[in-house]
Amino acid sequence: MVSRVIPVDPFDLVIFGGTGDLARRKILPALYRRFCDEQMPREARIIGAARTEQSPQEYRDWVAEGLKEFAPRSAADPDAMAGFLDRVDYLPVDAKGEGGWSDLKSKMRANVVQAFYFSVAPALFGDLAERLHHYGIAHEGARIVVEKPFGRDLGTARSLNATLAEHFDESQIYRIDHYLGKETVQNLMAVRFGNVLFEPLWNAQYVDHVQITVAESVGVGGRGSYYDKSGAMRDMVQNHLMQLLCLTAMEPPSRFEPDAVRDEKLKVIRALQSPPLKDIVRGQYKAGDNPSYLDDVEEPDSRTESFIAMKLHIANWRWNGTPFYLRTGKRLKTRKSEIVVHFKEPPHSIFDEDAGSRPNILSIRLQPDEGIDLSVTIKEPGPGGMRLIDVPLDMSFADALGPEAADVPDAYERLIMDVIRGNQTLFMRGDEVEAAWAWTDPLIEAWTERGDRPVPYEPGSAGPEDSAILMHRDSRRWREVG
Ligand code: NAP
Repeated sequence: MVSRVIPVDPFDLVIFGGTGDLARRKILPALYRRFCDEQMPREARIIGAARTEQSPQEYRDWVAEGLKEFAPRSAADPDAMAGFLDRVDYLPVDAKGEGGWSDLKSKMRANVVQAFYFSVAPALFGDLAERLHHYGIAHEGARIVVEKPFGRDLGTARSLNATLAEHFDESQIYRIDHYLGKETVQNLMAVRFGNVLFEPLWNAQYVDHVQITVAESVGVGGRGSYYDKSGAMRDMVQNHLMQLLCLTAMEPPSRFEPDAVRDEKLKVIRALQSPPLKDIVRGQYKAGDNPSYLDDVEEPDSRTESFIAMKLHIANWRWNGTPFYLRTGKRLKTRKSEIVVHFKEPPHSIFDEDAGSRPNILSIRLQPDEGIDLSVTIKEPGPGGMRLIDVPLDMSFADALGPEAADVPDAYERLIMDVIRGNQTLFMRGDEVEAAWAWTDPLIEAWTERGDRPVPYEPGSAGPEDSAILMHRDSRRWREVG
């Protein structure tokens, strides 16, 4: 089954930081794949902008090299590559100086969608916004796209929001959390709100608990000095895991529209209780085949966590008494992200105890192989009485919808096209980001004040033993990481 691709409107997309790592690894390959899928109209234009002095042709050569590395399958078609590069331009622009801005103004077309991707350090957001305004470059409907990290606490997030708000309306600002662009995350909403089966059971009466895991097998590597100032709480929980929690726990929005969805997510963040520190486990990976966390960062006595697990409660009628367990970490056994909803056992079993019934589990896999499966209990086939087993009702996209369905656009492809379409549903609103920091900050302050050290854990494991104990205390266990 091949889906129908609807081309977006003609656009000028300026990538500030067009020579950077994110542009090369994610933004340009995503645009190229949308071009190959014929979603990009003939009149679309991509303008790389950064301080590096180079000609548009030199930039195109650099872009082509990047595409060969990061979109190798699509890059094998020379006609497609040439067609895409035809749409790519470059302009040296200094966010902090005056060079290049008048040229940029003369390049921009008034009658197409304008989008400005701020793929630069957040410290430059204000300079870019100010100059786009000062030079009269961005028209009223222009969109700006900003990347994480959106602040490092409530104060910095507020000040970033205020800076952008000086020149742009909230309806023009697209804050990217690429987890929201994943196919399965949207499928979570389709499953919840497109079926009558799940929603009546989606509450504390029927859900025993929810587990959200984002496990990475890599360490902090070359990003050590950046990561050490952040840690798993700021780098992953405040944004990605919080967003996944919100989509899982939110009330049904009245429509699948930006503010309706974002209002409901915001209510979840505001209802999220601050957990006691005993319900939080922080860890740092030890050395194995690779260096330890402390060897990967500059600070020899760093107390920043590369792993965090926590038990959370949402104070509302729907979730009263149902814990949400979150965990994320680096150098774990495998790379895996999933949301797992554990339903309660049937209230009364009509079968013998040794028949072996187990509760239903709905798991939503974000990576590596996106898909959804539901475990249901059936009778083990054959003679020998009533013995119960769990079987998965597997909704892997490839199996259910044909092989093309497994080849879904990646998160950046979808999100950038949403920017061009002007659809903010999968982007974080300013008040959501601030509410998430308002919840995060006191916890970080509390463990910093106490001088807590993260506990060491074995690389290639499921994290510190204390994380398993957090679950054992409640007579529960984490799903296997690997
Ligand atoms: P990067 O590789 O260091 O690139 C920074 C870019 O900014 C370069 O193109 C640089 O080009 C440009 N730049 C620096 N100063 C400038 C100035 N004064 N005026 C105009 N351009 C300037 O960084 P990155 O990894 O691409 O990350 C960009 C942003 O995305 C950061 O905020 C980062 O936190 C965020 N992010 C990155 C990733 C990732 O995977 N890389 C993931 C999530 C979020 P010139 O030196 O030529 O000016």
